[in-house]
Amino acid sequence: MVNEFETKKMICELGRRMYNKGYVAANDGNISYRMGNGRFLCTPTGVSKGFLKPDDIATVDDTGKQIGGGKPRTSEILLHLEIFHELPDIDAVAHAHPPHATAFAIAGVDVPSCILPEVEILIGRVPIAEYDTPGGKDFAETILPHLRRKCNTILLANHGAVACDKDLEHAYFHLETLDMYCQILLLAKQIGKVQQISEPKVRELLDLKKRIGIPDERFDCQGERCVMGGGDEFLKGFSMQPIPQHQTSADGHGRGSGIADLPSQQGQPQPQGESLPRFPAVVAGRTIPGGDYLGASSTTARKRAAEDETERLVQIITEKIIQMSAG
Ligand SMILES: [Zn+2]
Repeated sequence: MVNEFETKKMICELGRRMYNKGYVAANDGNISYRMGNGRFLCTPTGVSKGFLKPDDIATVDDTGKQIGGGKPRTSEILLHLEIFHELPDIDAVAHAHPPHATAFAIAGVDVPSCILPEVEILIGRVPIAEYDTPGGKDFAETILPHLRRKCNTILLANHGAVACDKDLEHAYFHLETLDMYCQILLLAKQIGKVQQISEPKVRELLDLKKRIGIPDERFDCQGERCVMGGGDEFLKGFSMQPIPQHQTSADGHGRGSGIADLPSQQGQPQPQGESLPRFPAVVAGRTIPGGDYLGASSTTARKRAAEDETERLVQIITEKIIQMSAG
């Protein structure tokens, strides 16, 4: 049973983080949580999310009618309820106007995918919902097609972003991940080059995502376009060459300009695949089914290389999630 007061405190804490990150100005943004039995907690309207107190949090029923709390509920509750009604597994929603992400939403330019591994795993594709006047039922329904495509993070045209998950902190984290990603994309645009991860490597990420249990509409994708497509307008004019892949020779050594090629290292014993450190097959607190996945013995150097790459990726994602959990 979820403790109501603790949940209200958590909503206040996330409101503070949102405000301190600059994702909301003045009284913008809202957060909600499904308490069960048709009751939902949500932030009030007309109060800065940076200075919320537990007593400020409103309680509404599943039509949005206020049934508790000292201050009037957010005017955007229908957007939140649309998510709760459509996705029974989702218990938390966060909405804000994170500037880098909102820049894509006002430009009407799709956020490209297949660029950062963590983003692919944690949020995947981020669509832009059609514009409508905030607050009404029509506005709330703009996100419906994207919820049905299993998106957990959606941009709202000329407005901001909304994200959802099973718990409050992860709903908020999606906004952080999205805004950081959009900031990095905009920086890369200034450098003038963005490289996508190759399709086979994106499929590895999707495979990992499936094992972790995070939905993605691309799990059943057949063609390359289906996996890699989207964000074409942003990528236009950039190099579309996939990033170069790590090469491993038959003896398990990497080729290229690594330490093994230095004159002082020639003839010296080099690290072998078997001596590489192992990482636990656990991501986001969830054990990946088939526990031997990361330690499976390989029959070819090619498979060995693919496993090493996966290990490296799992380590990066695990570290990222540990960082996130640490706040
Ligand atoms: Zn808004």
